[in-house]
Amino acid sequence: MIQFQFERTATTKATLTALANNSNAKIIAGGTNLVDLMKRNVMAPTRLIDINTVPLKNIEYKNGMTRIGALALNSQVADDKLILEKHPLLSKALNAGASAQIRNMATVGGNMMQRTRCSYFYDTALPCNKRQPNSGCGALEGANRMHAIFGASNQCIAVHPSDMCVALVALDASVIVAGPKGERRIPFGEFHRLPGEHPEKDNTLQNNELIIAVEIPDNSFNKNTHYFKVRDRASYAFALVSVAAALQMEGNVIKEARLAMGGVAHKPWRLTEAEKSLAGKSATEETFRQAAEIAMQGAKAYKHNAFKLKMGPNVIVEALKNAAGLV
Ligand code: SF4
Repeated sequence: MIQFQFERTATTKATLTALANNSNAKIIAGGTNLVDLMKRNVMAPTRLIDINTVPLKNIEYKNGMTRIGALALNSQVADDKLILEKHPLLSKALNAGASAQIRNMATVGGNMMQRTRCSYFYDTALPCNKRQPNSGCGALEGANRMHAIFGASNQCIAVHPSDMCVALVALDASVIVAGPKGERRIPFGEFHRLPGEHPEKDNTLQNNELIIAVEIPDNSFNKNTHYFKVRDRASYAFALVSVAAALQMEGNVIKEARLAMGGVAHKPWRLTEAEKSLAGKSATEETFRQAAEIAMQGAKAYKHNAFKLKMGPNVIVEALKNAAGLV
């Protein structure tokens, strides 16, 4: 285990000051990913800033917006009455993630900041551009069964591991961050990034910024939703492919649709064209197959993950059928 300094902050302002004073500091809350990374020497912050006493745990509703504090626990959000009533898709995605014990520790902000589970990233004896820029990508020609089929680069083909984030991107959420110049709002789809030439950067948060909340605007997607996750075992496993589906229905006609995939890209993967194709159509398996075909356009497999090209459309169809109440 590496040596590091530790401090606890009680306010957002004090946290920002602590971040400004040490460019190699990391925020810790639940610690469900960062502690593992430090034990394995994958990440080596010289200072940990414990923000567990900063008052950022509330879940509240105001002016057509559900605001979830960055320190709200995954289990707290999943079971929250307001979330169950207004955004059940988020609750379903959260309950599909990790284990009950981890959901009781992990926070919303930490869930967003978790790193990929690519095994090369965790093994410091092997090359990984994300862990060590310009060292190579072991997964490109190696064990890439869990890896991306969308948006990868020749530098990195890792996927983002979160389930929660797949629901949040489908729900048009925003991330509220505080920094030295005040607060700013980042559309959820722009928070995580594709690897491009800089796979070491997972997201667009700056070193001196703190996630303080996530906001979800009101919508009419609370009646017909489903989160379908295919994984190697029934619990405590990351997605091979997952789909968040939400439909606004009028009788059997789809007024509007929201669709996003997990386990397929370096970021939660919104399926905007497939969503558009569903609007105004009857909710039938045929309609959903056509949308799935559109969704999969541009997908590219590597040696060991070609099964995702077949699994992807099937998971989309099943998620939509469940959301529409056809099964
Ligand atoms: Fe590293 Fe990304 Fe390659 Fe995995 S896929 S080895 S995380 S560079």
